[in-house]
Amino acid sequence: MVADKPADSTNENNEVNDVLKSTQTVIRQALDKLGYPEEVYELLREPLRLLTVRIPVRMDDGSVKVFTGYRAQHNDAVGPTKGGVRFHPDVTESEVKALSIWMSLKAGIVDLPYGGGKGGIVCDPREMSFRELERLSRGYVRAISQIVGPTKDIPAPDVFTNSQIMAWMMDEYSRIDEFNNPGFITGKPLVLGGSHGRESATAKGVTICIEEAAKKRGIDIKGARVIVQGFGNAGSYLSKFMHDAGAKVIAISDAYGALYDPDGLDIDYLLDRRDSFGTVTKLFKNTITNKEMLELDCDILVPAAIENQITKENAHHIKADIVVEAANGPTTLEATQILTERGILLVPDVLASSGGVTVSYFEWVQNNQGYYWTEEEVEEKLRKVMVKAFNNVYNTANTRNIDMRLAAYMVGVRKMAEASRFRGWI
Ligand code: GLU
Repeated sequence: MVADKPADSTNENNEVNDVLKSTQTVIRQALDKLGYPEEVYELLREPLRLLTVRIPVRMDDGSVKVFTGYRAQHNDAVGPTKGGVRFHPDVTESEVKALSIWMSLKAGIVDLPYGGGKGGIVCDPREMSFRELERLSRGYVRAISQIVGPTKDIPAPDVFTNSQIMAWMMDEYSRIDEFNNPGFITGKPLVLGGSHGRESATAKGVTICIEEAAKKRGIDIKGARVIVQGFGNAGSYLSKFMHDAGAKVIAISDAYGALYDPDGLDIDYLLDRRDSFGTVTKLFKNTITNKEMLELDCDILVPAAIENQITKENAHHIKADIVVEAANGPTTLEATQILTERGILLVPDVLASSGGVTVSYFEWVQNNQGYYWTEEEVEEKLRKVMVKAFNNVYNTANTRNIDMRLAAYMVGVRKMAEASRFRGWI
């Protein structure tokens, strides 16, 4: 995680970094290019449903704290909605809405039978105890139980939530439903019906996108200089995968700073020392800032933290050949344009980070059929999905002479728009 910043605001340069507005802008462009009428935009620009809940939680000191939570369901024309739950102090209604739209796009891009959903709770899990987190997780499920379920809307992990939190949520839902219901949520521990490969799936999907992008650019992963911003779930696994593939991970960061070594960092050591929130740089004296790190010379830059990290302020100074977005929304639209004009290949979030929801889909399928796959089977299936999705978006961008973000949106909205049309909604 990097510097905390509100999601809906403009930066010092008056650049729009409201992620909902940005995603609406690109959805409109994609629908225009595909020739859809205005009412399709009107349907897709906001989620179909947004539930706001207030969750009273008994804290360890005996006091009661009331937390605000959200669940947004963007569009369920294709199938049940699907997407993670984020625990973070900066969660806002508008951010959750945007994140639910992105989940619809991801599902469309990797061709899953889902629409997009997203949840969030305004809280700081770094300052809560294990039991307080359990009570909050269970309270959230009780509050949203009427609109979620294995055939309605299927939650999963996101920023600062993990398999333990999924386990509590699954248990709470199963109690309400009065039978064991593992397919209600994905990202569970293996012993509760989780899938092999789910925890590292986002990073694995990003790795496959990096490999495909590197092939297009004639870059050899062996020896390539890689920078990874963020050392949470995606960033830490990704650093490991890149390191194991022979790349030189020259810099990594967390919310407090960045570590840089032009000869390559000792990733195994750093993984060993990171805490469960991905914090590691505090242990070192010689750090640089996140801002400095993003502008270092490298071949591949992977923002794997939070929104609005590459803006029109720093886009001119990015030195990578390839930028692959492992986080949701790390690059503003102005910055996307600058990077594209500068010939940098930008692989957008809705494509690059879709490995997580893909393996979540595999988990749900395994839960539904009660038959479980090996790690190799999961990885092979994920690779097939990601390679196909990458090349579909890449070819769309080349044929239409547009950037990969717009191309990904075109691929992502098409199925949703078609399903909505067949249902007679538009
Ligand atoms: N939170 C992840 C995402 O943003 C995964 C969602 C899921 O597995 O349903 O893609």
